[in-house]
Amino acid sequence: MSFSTTLETPQTGKYEQPTGLFINGEFTHGVDKKTFESINPTTEKPICAIQEATEKDVDIAVSVARKTFEETWRKVTPEQRSRYLLKLADLFERDLDTLAAIESLDNGKAFSMAKVDIGMCAGCLRYYGGWADKIEGKVIDTNSETFNYTKQEPIGVVGQIIPWNFPLLMWAWKIGPAVACGNTVVLKSAEQTPLGALYAAKLVKEAGFPPGVINILSGFGKTAGAAIAAHMDIDKVAFTGSTVVGRQIMKAAAGSNLKKVTLELGGKSPNIVFNDADIENAISWVNFGIFFNHGQCCCAGSRVYVQDGIYDKFIEAFKKRAGANKVGDPFAQDTFQGPQVSQLQFDRIMGYIDTGKKEGAKVEIGGERHGDKGFFIQPTIFSNVSSEMKIMQEEIFGPVCSIGKFSTEEEAIKLGNATTYGLASAVHTSNLNTAIRVSSALRAGTVWINQYNMLHHQLPFGGYKESGIGRELGEAALANYSQTKTVSIRLGDALF
Ligand code: ADP
Repeated sequence: MSFSTTLETPQTGKYEQPTGLFINGEFTHGVDKKTFESINPTTEKPICAIQEATEKDVDIAVSVARKTFEETWRKVTPEQRSRYLLKLADLFERDLDTLAAIESLDNGKAFSMAKVDIGMCAGCLRYYGGWADKIEGKVIDTNSETFNYTKQEPIGVVGQIIPWNFPLLMWAWKIGPAVACGNTVVLKSAEQTPLGALYAAKLVKEAGFPPGVINILSGFGKTAGAAIAAHMDIDKVAFTGSTVVGRQIMKAAAGSNLKKVTLELGGKSPNIVFNDADIENAISWVNFGIFFNHGQCCCAGSRVYVQDGIYDKFIEAFKKRAGANKVGDPFAQDTFQGPQVSQLQFDRIMGYIDTGKKEGAKVEIGGERHGDKGFFIQPTIFSNVSSEMKIMQEEIFGPVCSIGKFSTEEEAIKLGNATTYGLASAVHTSNLNTAIRVSSALRAGTVWINQYNMLHHQLPFGGYKESGIGRELGEAALANYSQTKTVSIRLGDALF
């Protein structure tokens, strides 16, 4: 069996798409030889069938990752780990168009945006390639009779569960630091978007990684995902996805071997625009904050608070700006917004739009499906949204913006923090003091000033409150994938 199929995209022409599970450096079928189909959200038609991992395949992948960790990988030098990651980054750049086209095909994101994602993947992998041989401990002087040092050691076998909104970027965010720190990995992609992860697995092989270091499974959350979370021989699980599932992951970790857990979960992030903001600039970023990636961002600026002095003017101009966002075929050159990823997500979002209308918020633009084929939704802006409305409280994960009004800085801070989430936030103002005061008061892992959604692999990213545990990216992510060992050596005589 070849575990590969020929697919075609407008950008790449024909290409070979791996379809197997990637275990021990080879593509293979699952134990049960089950398959499932990935659906093209633009056409609503199946793209191809791929092998489905069940609990049994998780067991096999984990035992391979364990053996590789114990017998080979932990003896590979940091410099060599770095070389593998740097090579992988180069291959992502070489195949940038193909990887981006796969994302557009499988996820529906605009090709021009997908290319940015893949560039960021390469940047992230290269950044952690740079870290691999700079992970150092300390010498700690306690007294003249002991010599103490700490070293950072890998955690072991890491299970990683990623979502469908940035299929390859999440792949790179997870694999980069895990491998740099010397762990082996069993990663499960999201069932909606398995194709990019498998193509990237092919690049892992080409980069020369020893078999078993990086294992990639396609499969469903309730089976393969749950098996990873509850596995007795996985030392750590890293998850990005919904808060509901994040809670289940923690429970499964607590109920099994107390594996370490990092979670990057949902958000309902405030985007606060003061009277003195450069209004054109602010509108651009507010538009990008909510409508980028079709609103399918955990950090989406979905709650927009505008100060009363510019409220009406802002809404008029924002409507014009958002109305000009081109919705359509992800492969068309000027497309900004493609389809939502799946029927389920489409239905959920349309449900929220319905609720917003019923709750009495005013639809400024949008509020309907776009076209009659594919999971497209019009960019939707609700104004006059009050704090208790569901569309101001709950994560919609779609192109739906809820706008409220505020008068004072204190009110803006109060409204901004009126959520159980704490992933991101933004402040638009031309007053530096306002920017710094408000950013200090907002309880969120990231505060953007006069911009939005500008993630960078050097900058830590993660949640306050119910938006998560731990930080991804930057030096901070190394703490998620290594553990400190203290070695204390007696130099003096026996004490007792
Ligand atoms: P969404 O609702 O946006 O699809 P999820 O949190 O359900 O987000 O999914 C994110 C990832 O978590 C996917 O890879 C999915 O397969 C996985 N997942 C879903 N349910 C579970 C579960 N019970 N245990 C482990 N992983 C899960």
